[in-house]
Amino acid sequence: MIFLILVVIGNILHTDSQPIDEATQQRFRQIAVAAVNAERQTQGIKKKVVTDAGLQNWLDGQTETFINETAEISPDLFLKRLPSKQLTLSQASLYYISAASPGSLAGKLDFWKEAFHASTNVVAMRLCRHSDNQIGCLFIAAKKVPSFNLSLFNKGQSEFYVTCRNCDKPHLGKLEKSDLAIAIKCSHCNHSYDLIAADLLGNYHRATHYLQGYSPPQAIGAATSTRLAELTALWSEVVTRCRYSKDFSGISEKKDSWQTPPDTYSLRNGDCEDTSLLLADWLIARGFTTRVVIGKAPGKDEHAWCVTELDGKQYLLETTLESIPAIPPETQSEAVRYQPRFSFDRQKIHFIKESPDIIFDYFSPELWQSYAYPVPQTSSVPSIALNSLESSEASKNP
Ligand SMILES: [Zn+2]
Repeated sequence: MIFLILVVIGNILHTDSQPIDEATQQRFRQIAVAAVNAERQTQGIKKKVVTDAGLQNWLDGQTETFINETAEISPDLFLKRLPSKQLTLSQASLYYISAASPGSLAGKLDFWKEAFHASTNVVAMRLCRHSDNQIGCLFIAAKKVPSFNLSLFNKGQSEFYVTCRNCDKPHLGKLEKSDLAIAIKCSHCNHSYDLIAADLLGNYHRATHYLQGYSPPQAIGAATSTRLAELTALWSEVVTRCRYSKDFSGISEKKDSWQTPPDTYSLRNGDCEDTSLLLADWLIARGFTTRVVIGKAPGKDEHAWCVTELDGKQYLLETTLESIPAIPPETQSEAVRYQPRFSFDRQKIHFIKESPDIIFDYFSPELWQSYAYPVPQTSSVPSIALNSLESSEASKNP
């Protein structure tokens, strides 16, 4: 295949002293990419490389002088000029060589070796007049990664370009499916701005999507005389109804997956974030300003609880207690023991701006940076318990 390039392109350009026209550039690229892919196949690499339109456009937009300069400057310096973020490249390498003809350029197998790395998926190249009797070629082999997308992450893609909601810059992110909740943090400004968590099947969703507007089919607290009594009644119901189960993992092997509020309600079982999600959803449905909070608590590096703002006071609602006090504690009295890191409701995810030692104001815009995320029309988080209950009901009564 490489020999073929030598013949075909060598004949076209051998005696030409004019600038290299676009048709020749294109033909060289097509044949070179075909040759690279044929070689990848013989090396057992299934995935083919393609010419990346954005990368190729950028390269085509550079002057011949600039291309020729790569013969003198270090590849690192050149790669720094490459708009990697804009083109969403996670790694790139380049080679520059010159020869008497494009055919002999293409024939130098060593020159293409970066294209034979399994991780390389895009290439771009450009021929130029190096000197009167020499043709130069700049070749870039790179790994292009997609923009962040939860469904791709759930399908196994782990490397993404994400645009930071705080500083608006794109940054490269590598996500590991190992944590209860993953806060996505910007590598430029060092701020977190998104929060995702795995459901019972191991699929990740934005934290806000777990709050679905669910309200249990009970009139609990409805007849109370004060809003504080109503709040306390719902808190008490969640605490007494749901057995705390640290390692409950549903039908997935995965520990610490998140349950939807209807699942936790019907299973009567869940760990700290499951019961917090249920309580928060219920309180929000009753018109309370409530957030689910994740942070440190006594003996727990990662814990979840709820906070509610009512009549100028903020209450901290712990859902893993054996029994609850008559009146919920205000956040001040719990501030030494509970250290929040992030919180969310149905529309927004909130991150602590700095980390003061003691935080008892969970709603101050001065302390918390908030990012709004759209509420989906229909929930993307599957309700496992309800579905399986419905299907087992259906199978009992065909
Ligand atoms: Zn940023």
